Amino acid sequence: MFSKENISILLIVLLLVLSAQASSIVTELDVISYHLTITPNIDEKHISGTVIIKFQINSKNSDSIILNAGNLEIDRVVGENVTGFKKSNNGLVIQLSGNEKNGNEITIDYHGNPNSGLLFDLDHGEAFTVYSTSRWMICNDSPGDKALFHLNIAIPVDKTCIASGELVSKIHRNGKMHYSYQQNYEAPTYTYGFAIGNFNQAEEKLGKLLLNYYSRDYSSDQLLTIFQETPAMISFFEEKSGVSYGESTYSQILIGDYYQEMSGYSILKDTYGELVLHDSTETNLISHEMAHQWWGNRVTCKSWNHFWLNEAMATFMSAAYNEHRFGKEKYQSDIDSYYEVYEAIKNRGNDKPLVFDSWSNPSSDDRNLVYFKGAYVLHLLRENIGDEMFWEAIRFYTAKHFGNSVETTDFQKAIEESSGTNLDNFFNEWVYKSN
Ligand SMILES: [Zn+2]
Repeated sequence: MFSKENISILLIVLLLVLSAQASSIVTELDVISYHLTITPNIDEKHISGTVIIKFQINSKNSDSIILNAGNLEIDRVVGENVTGFKKSNNGLVIQLSGNEKNGNEITIDYHGNPNSGLLFDLDHGEAFTVYSTSRWMICNDSPGDKALFHLNIAIPVDKTCIASGELVSKIHRNGKMHYSYQQNYEAPTYTYGFAIGNFNQAEEKLGKLLLNYYSRDYSSDQLLTIFQETPAMISFFEEKSGVSYGESTYSQILIGDYYQEMSGYSILKDTYGELVLHDSTETNLISHEMAHQWWGNRVTCKSWNHFWLNEAMATFMSAAYNEHRFGKEKYQSDIDSYYEVYEAIKNRGNDKPLVFDSWSNPSSDDRNLVYFKGAYVLHLLRENIGDEMFWEAIRFYTAKHFGNSVETTDFQKAIEESSGTNLDNFFNEWVYKSN
């Protein structure tokens, strides 16, 4: 007998099984590059595009691949080895002939009205991307499958575009402005994105690096005040990671209701600017998103089960910047606030290990554990091995895995190797077990 609840539980279980199957197949896919050409239509909340995907398959006897495709409609899939395709739920299954494992290339034409991932603000004529990329571009959502990204985007001539990668060209053609971007390093697809609007802009330089700040509502002078810590933050993270930022620009856009790090830029909630203008020490979210340019975008969790490697690091680093800039007390008060969030979760009986068995349906407590328990645990690790060894180990870990994907064992090994300390007990207590 099935009650309504039974049926929903059954459906959830079924979805979990299906998504687990999908991800196990998708992990066999290694995308090398995406070459995307898109035209967003803000008034119609619509996008149409063509993506050329070069990939290889890391398994034997695989005659199909599954890509993530949101609610997009597929118009055409072509390629030398393509024998058919089928859209099912949020997946696009592409059948392939033969055993060609390398050098595959497929071209997909698609269109649609994304209901998330690409947000449109009709009142202000803006559009911007925020989780998840496959809602507006056919891709492999798995964070471990990094790839090169080339973006061609056509937008109204009166608007500005900010996007992932280096701007290659900007050409006025057929009544639109055509921007072309090339990202020269492999990045996880969740960091691909763009923002379009009519923005006030301010810029400054840190050596050769161009820092851009954008907003519809704040003036250029206000933007320079809101983002005044940016040059010092970049220098701080370069020093703490031991790796230079490496790109020619870093942009920050105050827009919408979200915060997300993207490759080469970050979006921050529009009203956050007011908070910083009111209190110039309220820069945690600026530093958090920026820290992801190292930990997240370049040293990336291989799967979402190890998401804490991205988020705990960025959260901890924002406290570390505060310590550097505003003093030990500010750092300690950040760590205390992280611990309070963790303690409340623990008191609700919802503590979990930082490495998850599954991240397919995280609760808000799960998310907060990854961010705040995680950052608190990094603070404990710092106390455990001492300041000097801790920062040396962070530099060692970051340099060793820069550009790659990591799991928690990679992190533990790097810290142990650098510090010469066995951390099995520490990781068992704080990372692999709950309290
Ligand atoms: Zn984050």
